[in-house]
Amino acid sequence: MNHIDHFQEKLDALKLQGQYRQFKANLSSEFILQREGKPLINLASNDYLGLAGNLALREAFFDQLPNEQRHLSASSSRLLTGNYPAFEQLEREMSQAFGRSVLLFNSGYHMNIGILPALSDSKTLILADKLVHASIIDGIRLSSAKYLRYRHNDLVQLKQFLEKYQEDHEIERIIVVTESIFSMDGDEADLKALVTLKAQHSKVLLYVDEAHAIGVRGERGLGCAEQYDVLDQIDFLVGTFGKALASIGGYIVCHETIRNYLINFMRPLIFSTAQPPISAAWTQFVFQHMQSLSAERTHLAHLSSYAWQGVQALGLDCPSTSQIVPVILGEAKRANAVAEMLQDQGYYVLPLRPPTVPQNTARLRICLNQNVQQQHMVALFEYLRQWL
Ligand code: PMP
Repeated sequence: MNHIDHFQEKLDALKLQGQYRQFKANLSSEFILQREGKPLINLASNDYLGLAGNLALREAFFDQLPNEQRHLSASSSRLLTGNYPAFEQLEREMSQAFGRSVLLFNSGYHMNIGILPALSDSKTLILADKLVHASIIDGIRLSSAKYLRYRHNDLVQLKQFLEKYQEDHEIERIIVVTESIFSMDGDEADLKALVTLKAQHSKVLLYVDEAHAIGVRGERGLGCAEQYDVLDQIDFLVGTFGKALASIGGYIVCHETIRNYLINFMRPLIFSTAQPPISAAWTQFVFQHMQSLSAERTHLAHLSSYAWQGVQALGLDCPSTSQIVPVILGEAKRANAVAEMLQDQGYYVLPLRPPTVPQNTARLRICLNQNVQQQHMVALFEYLRQWL
C-alpha cells in the first residue's frame, strides 16, 4: 500500500467526522482580529488580562531592558551554559510572592510531561481527575506509576480510592492530580476540600495545575490557591505563563528538596535548551505588573457571571464558574456551524470537538478577556437566542 494514501485516508475520515484540524492564517492575541478586512472580537484567546495585546506594556518592557540583556537564545540547557540571570531573577521574584521555592520550565506541556514521571515510581499511585489536560495524561503515561482516574470533581469517589489505597502496602505515595480551573468546562476543583482530604491521608501529595487561574484569581493574581488560602498546602502547585501572563513557560511552586529533585531527575528540564532568557525577563515584568490588576480581575469575574447566565437563559447547562464559558451543543458539525455563524457576525469563537472533549459534547468555547465589555455579550447571546 502507498504509505501516503494510508495517512491521507485517516485524514479524510477526520474530515467526514468534522474533526479535521488546520492552522488558520493571520491570527494573533490582539483583541480585534482582522479577517478578510473585517474586524472580529477575539473570544478564543487565553490572553485573559489582555496583556499579550497591550502595546504600551510591551514598549515599557523594551525601554527598561538594555540590548545586552535581550538574549534571544539560551543556547543550552540551564544545567550546561544556559542558566542566565533572567531565570534566577524570575524564580526569586515568584518565590517571594508564593512563599516557597519555584522552578521554571520551557512550557506548561514540558512541565506536565516531566514532573510526574520524575517524581513517581512503581510504588506511586496517581489519582487524576477524569478531565485533566492532555499534557497531564501524557505525563502519567510516561511515568512508571499505577494510575486511576476519578469521575470529574467527584470527591466522594476520590475519597473511596484514597481509603482503599491508603491501606495498600504496595503503594507508598498517592499523587492526586487536578486542574484548579478546567480548560474545557471552565468549572473548578474544590481546593479546600482536596486539602482536607490530603490532611486525612498520610500518603497523599497534591498536584494542582493553575494554567487557567494564574493572573485571574486571588487578590494578587496568584491563582485559586491564593483565593482559597491554600497556597502552602499544595505540594506541587504548577501553572503556565502562556495564558493570562502573556508569555511562555511553566512553573512549579514546591518544597526546595522537590525543586532539587526535579533538577536532577526531570528529563524535559535536563535535556532541552532553556527558553530564550528574554522570555523570562518579560515574564518577570508581566508577573510584577499583573499582581496589581485587581480591578481587571473583578471586571472579568462580572463578565463571566453575565455569560453563564446567558448560557443558562438559552436552556443549556453551564458548568462554568470562570472566564472559560462553554456552550455545549452536542454534535461536532453543529458546533462548527454555529461558530462559523458567530464569526460571520464579528465574534471569533471557536468550536471544540471530540477527541478534545468527550463524544456528543462538542461546544463553542467562549474565552473572555479583560477587553470584552458587557454589550459584546448582550449582542452575542441575542444571536445565539435566535439560532438555537
Ligand atoms: N495545563 C493546562 C491545564 C493547559 O490548558 C495547558 C495549555 N492549554 C497546558 C497545561 C500547557 O501549557 P503550555 O501551553 O504552556 O504548554
